[in-house]
Formats: sequence, C-alpha cells, structure tokens
Amino acid sequence: MKVAGIIKQSLVDYPGKIAAVLFARGCNFYCPFCHNGHLLIKPGKAGAEYLDWQEIIELLRERKSFLDAVVVSGGEPCLNPELPQALSQIKELGYTTKLDTNGSRTAVLAQLVEQSLVDYVAMDIKGVLEYKKYLEACGGRLTNEDFLNVKGSLYLLQKAEIEVEFRTTVVPPLHKQEDILAIARHIQGASRYSLQQFNPGHTLNPDYSYITPYTREELQYMAQECRPYVKEVKVLNT
Ligand code: SF4
Repeated sequence: MKVAGIIKQSLVDYPGKIAAVLFARGCNFYCPFCHNGHLLIKPGKAGAEYLDWQEIIELLRERKSFLDAVVVSGGEPCLNPELPQALSQIKELGYTTKLDTNGSRTAVLAQLVEQSLVDYVAMDIKGVLEYKKYLEACGGRLTNEDFLNVKGSLYLLQKAEIEVEFRTTVVPPLHKQEDILAIARHIQGASRYSLQQFNPGHTLNPDYSYITPYTREELQYMAQECRPYVKEVKVLNT
C-alpha cells in the first residue's frame, strides 16, 4: 500500500483509543480548503515518495502493546488497490481499524465493511448533496460517478453495523448555516456528525488563506440546530 506518512501515536484520531495513523498517497478531489497538498501527488509522480509497507507492518507489530488501533487516512485511501489486503494484515496483528474517506468509492467501502476489515469509518460530507455545490467544495474535481458514489456511501454507512461518523469542514464561502442543517437532515438518524473548524493556513487554493472562519460560537449554534436529526453532533477544532 502507498503510504506517504505516519503518525506513530495519536490520541485524537480514533475516539477513545491510542492509534497510529497512516496517510495514503493520492486523492481524486481537490478541496480548496485541504491542508494535505503534499499527500495529493499521485504514486509514480515526482515527489511522490512512500514508505516501505513491510517496515510499517514491523513497526505496528513492535508497538502493539502501546497502541489500540490503526487509522488509515489520506489523501483518499480507497483509491489504493492494496487497501483491503493492507487492512487485513493490520487486523491480523490484532488492531481495531478506522478509515477516513471522502466516500467516492462505494464498492471498496462495501467490501471493507462486508469483510469486517474496518471497525469505524469517518466519511467527509463536503457540502449539500447537490452536484454543483458539491463540485465547488471538491475544487472542481468530481465526476458524476464520484457524486453517485458519495450518495451511495452515505446510504451504505447508514445501514452498516460499525461505528460511523460523518463530518464536514465548515468553510464560510461554501457553507451557510442552512446548508449544514440540510446535510444533517439528509443523514437523519445517523449516530455522529462532526463540524470541523476550517483553518485558513496552507490551503490548496491560496485564496482560501484569506477567508475568516466561522467563530466557535457560530459553529456551536449550527451544531445545536443539527441535534434534532443526529444523535451526537460535535464541533472539532483543527
Ligand atoms: S478529499 Fe479533499 S480534503 Fe480530503 S485529502 Fe482529498 S483533497 Fe484533501
């Protein structure tokens, strides 16, 4: 699997667990507010180095007594054909697993759920589920198939018997308060929805560096408005 980076120990990436975090290389979206530009260089291109997979497995084996879980984040991990095999190896070491995804590869997600290779999935919802708005939030890189898959993944995860979190990075030009409420209504009955504070530093689209984020109070108000639809709504800082 093409892993561009690793955090050996994190207390914030898997709720309630000490986790290692692996960052997969490459992404099909180009969200203007993304901070992971260095991860988006596709495998095989200049600057797209990645770590040796066998060394990662050895490291995870050695650290098993300190860690509870492994989070596979990105980039978009589901673009990586070796993902199911990689998760299977991590599971064999005895770890609980979490996947962070943009939801654009429903078939891969379905396979991972079906084969019990993920215990927790956190899926980004980039914006209101209307193609034009979603396209803008993805930086203009969203095929019709990707968009259908995003909706398919939402449906799949709402039925899956694993831990699921939906999350939106709330960015003033992309999301008004009523948009966040529309998303909450769309995922009505979900167990967890997180509103992630937008951080204007080092964004993929440099224009977004000049945007003033919503205040914490404004995000808390949006969260409050979403609570009738989702069991747990949290505001996350970057
Ligand atoms: S989905 Fe968007 S935010 Fe996530 S890695 Fe890809 S470009 Fe960045």
